[in-house]
Amino acid sequence: MTTTERTPPVPFTSEDYAARMRRVVADAGHAGLDGLVVMPGPELFWLTGYRPTAITERLTMLALTPDQEPTLLVPTLERPDAEGAVGAPSLTIVDWGDGEDPFARASALIPERTTMGISDSAWAMHLLGLQAALPGSSYRSLTQSLPMLRAVKDANELARLEAAGAAADATYEQILGVRFAGRKETEVAADLARLLREFGHEQVDFTVVGSGPNGANPHHEAGERRIEQGDAVVLDFGGLMNGYGSDTSRTVCVGEPSAEVREVHEIVRQAQQAGVEAARPGVACQEIDRAARKTITDAGYGEQFIHRTGHGIGTTTHEPPYMIEGEEQPLLPGMCFSVEPGIYLADRFGVRIEDIVTVTETGWLRLNNTEHRLRLVE
Ligand code: ZN
Ligand code: ZN
Repeated sequence: MTTTERTPPVPFTSEDYAARMRRVVADAGHAGLDGLVVMPGPELFWLTGYRPTAITERLTMLALTPDQEPTLLVPTLERPDAEGAVGAPSLTIVDWGDGEDPFARASALIPERTTMGISDSAWAMHLLGLQAALPGSSYRSLTQSLPMLRAVKDANELARLEAAGAAADATYEQILGVRFAGRKETEVAADLARLLREFGHEQVDFTVVGSGPNGANPHHEAGERRIEQGDAVVLDFGGLMNGYGSDTSRTVCVGEPSAEVREVHEIVRQAQQAGVEAARPGVACQEIDRAARKTITDAGYGEQFIHRTGHGIGTTTHEPPYMIEGEEQPLLPGMCFSVEPGIYLADRFGVRIEDIVTVTETGWLRLNNTEHRLRLVE
């Protein structure tokens, strides 16, 4: 296989991270929060470029408030790692040693009697420790209070998501040429993982190969079933490249498809197109779900479309906003999310088609661009 020349992404700078932290502190103020407490996880990485090598019981905490410099509290032994993060020059780093009370140190960074947003990935033991040290303060979920925290991507983030999408597309083009019939799902899944890495992913998050009846279970990953002639096979794969996610699905058929597989595939294709075409600035997320779902419901398969239509994507492969009934958040230019309707016929087969889409100033742009028609494999 020829390896395509890849231009490395523009590195994020300390100023990029400083700008994110400033924006988030302002957003928190508008949301009625006095500041943010961020523990290791996607929010900490996005805000500072710091991802601890091991997330442990030792407290690591970023405190963001309007009245103090962004401050990262780390265990002493992890201080050199934290100082090496790209965003470190925009941070005051303080450390605590084994034997000290980390929550006493942490409480000095949180003003008393405040309402702080806290990242969802915070461990319960750390939140409980903070509550005991600062009983006058309360905490609210960041996902609930600042759902748009990471949702709008800047140009550099978009370039990474585009590159990850192109790598996933190249993976799909290659997988069409491998043998399916007679092989186990896990073997095709291993091919997908290998290809994603060959095309530049540093991390593979999922490689779904749902053949025949297994395709009717949206959560099926890949198993020991041997793929048979005539099977519809749901492929859904993605991971991280340059720190940003890919996630795409296509459903292929091994040999000649039945008339029913063709029909269901065509309905899902039209539903996916309708979902994508509904995207533009100002439209509520739920309208994407409604557009895709209407196509499937009108065709008589509404009961067999058993999940939301999509999810945001960025430094994680699943994140807010969600394309689901009841989500009234308006789409904004720079948001990136999946459109992935499916039809699942229990014990028989499933079909799902998924692209990542970004919202432009006037509409939408797909970050996955492989063809949607039903492709036949051997
Ligand atoms: Zn997917
Ligand atoms: Zn997805």
